[in-house]
Amino acid sequence: MSYAVKERFLTLQGEGVHAGRRAVFVRFAGCNLWTGLERDRATAICQFCDTDFVGMDGEGGGRFPTAEALATAAAETWGMDRDSRFVVLTGGEPMLQVDADLIDALHAENFFIAIESNGTLPVPRTIDWICISPKAESETVQRSGDELKLVWPQEGSNWQDMQDWDFANLLLQPKDAISDPAASKGHLEQAIAFVQAHPKWRLSLQTHKILGLA
Ligand code: SF4
Repeated sequence: MSYAVKERFLTLQGEGVHAGRRAVFVRFAGCNLWTGLERDRATAICQFCDTDFVGMDGEGGGRFPTAEALATAAAETWGMDRDSRFVVLTGGEPMLQVDADLIDALHAENFFIAIESNGTLPVPRTIDWICISPKAESETVQRSGDELKLVWPQEGSNWQDMQDWDFANLLLQPKDAISDPAASKGHLEQAIAFVQAHPKWRLSLQTHKILGLA
């Protein structure tokens, strides 16, 4: 199959357990929790998006005809030798497109593969690092992995149940209100208070935004 990619770029992973690590990001186009054809929040199921995943017009984006073509492009973006290669498959919802062929092709390029998914579709364990970010308006079917990253505050979230899911790390990440810094500050304060009260969880910050990285 071919793969529709919004953008592909070299950066540092900003969030979660691997924050600070050199990474190639591959952002797939499309999300199953976004009903609008354009980025129209009024038609979205999910209200948490802070990324543009519509189309294939970003840096390094496009339609890749084969898994090998996309893996080769990711390796070119990495641009060094084969050591410590790290790729983050994100979106949008990457599991709409990620398949066994792509996982094999990225492993053949010596990438450690991380994925950031909304958890509404099963994620194969052949992916090296599974990060799931549940959305209250949807059913999370992928209830195991390495990192559960809950955006906070999130009305209707069943965070108590999530503590019984099979994740090695429980992370709480303050919701970015994007154009409302005062609201973002309030979300940070709520997240800090939550973690203080619930020590199974720890705070995840979007350090790429703090650092001014993509
Ligand atoms: S699930 Fe993720 S990519 Fe999809 S609309 Fe929500 S925040 Fe955006």
